[in-house]
Amino acid sequence: MATLTLRGINVWDGLRGAAVESTVTMEDGHVTALGAAGGADFDFSGCTVIPGLIDGHAHLCFNAGTDWRAVYDSDTAGRMLLRMAWAGRSMLEAGITTVRDLGAPTTLAVEIRDAFRSGLVPGPDLLVSGAPITTTGGHCHFMGGEADGELEIRKAVRNRVKAGVDCIKIMATGGNMTRGTNTLAAQFTVDELGACVDEAHRLRKKVAAHCHGTPGIVNAVAAGVDFLEHCSFNGPAGIDYDPESMADAARKGIVVSPTVSVGYRRWPDDGRRRRRGEVLQNIFAANVPVLMSTDCGIPGVPHAALAGGMDVLRELAGLSPVDTLKLATSRAAELLGLTDRGVIAEGQRADLLVLDGNPLAELSALERVRAVFKAGQLVYERGRT
Ligand SMILES: [Zn+2]
Repeated sequence: MATLTLRGINVWDGLRGAAVESTVTMEDGHVTALGAAGGADFDFSGCTVIPGLIDGHAHLCFNAGTDWRAVYDSDTAGRMLLRMAWAGRSMLEAGITTVRDLGAPTTLAVEIRDAFRSGLVPGPDLLVSGAPITTTGGHCHFMGGEADGELEIRKAVRNRVKAGVDCIKIMATGGNMTRGTNTLAAQFTVDELGACVDEAHRLRKKVAAHCHGTPGIVNAVAAGVDFLEHCSFNGPAGIDYDPESMADAARKGIVVSPTVSVGYRRWPDDGRRRRRGEVLQNIFAANVPVLMSTDCGIPGVPHAALAGGMDVLRELAGLSPVDTLKLATSRAAELLGLTDRGVIAEGQRADLLVLDGNPLAELSALERVRAVFKAGQLVYERGRT
């Protein structure tokens, strides 16, 4: 593969407090040098180059519309796969080069991941869970992942690993998108969640647990899952934050994936955003590791809207732009166990996002995508397809 060098750029490496003027040289999909010359040139004068962004929680199979369920139910497998391809492409063109998909029919999730990875169709590098494990009639049961009791849960984990998933998703509480479930109550016992974790870890897969209600969070932490998705701390009378479970999570290294999105901007200003902000601030203050995630694909959250979600998280959690950027680059890669990306350094994957403007000064620069490289290949350039 040819050697490429980006010039005229300021480079933010994913870790430092500032971007510095440099060049980036890449070859065979990896960054081979910083500050050196050579190979074919790309002149991106005045632009800032940052590591490709990572969204820790996505649903490529959902259409982000209020009609999502009717569309989901009427999709054939073929049409759903096309929808996933389209969603992936829109994410890639927004500079999102790595995505963890935490809920889609298992076979389709594995197929689209492999199609993106092989270059058959353009899309980000995907980590997929396939169908979330849920109780009979439980949250997202329509994806095909119902399992009750420890034996069925163990078998569900084995079937997913056999099908080729990268991680396991389990629904520890009900969810807003599934009628007839209870978002406030735990869906599985600690023993059931523990069987899931035990079986997944035996097969070297991490477990992400969806949890809105506090009892589900408490159970998931006790069972030793790896990720708490949403981690809303919802109780019958509003927010029911549990400091003990977050202290435990910090001790065990359990990661919170808070799914913060542009959808929050549409919440009526009734204090709901403020209360969610307080929960997030408490989670950060408890030293629980956090990675950026949006739950994109759900109603009101377009797949490519990661930048907007990052700005909402920055505002609610009271973070600086650089600390927010780390949550979607170096920190996200670290917490997902992806040691080959998330920073711009020699030997790392050349997943690069070229921006007009400096996102460290103003996060909205993330919306001004000039070009995207995935594993050293130019996959998007504004004004050229
Ligand atoms: Zn989700």
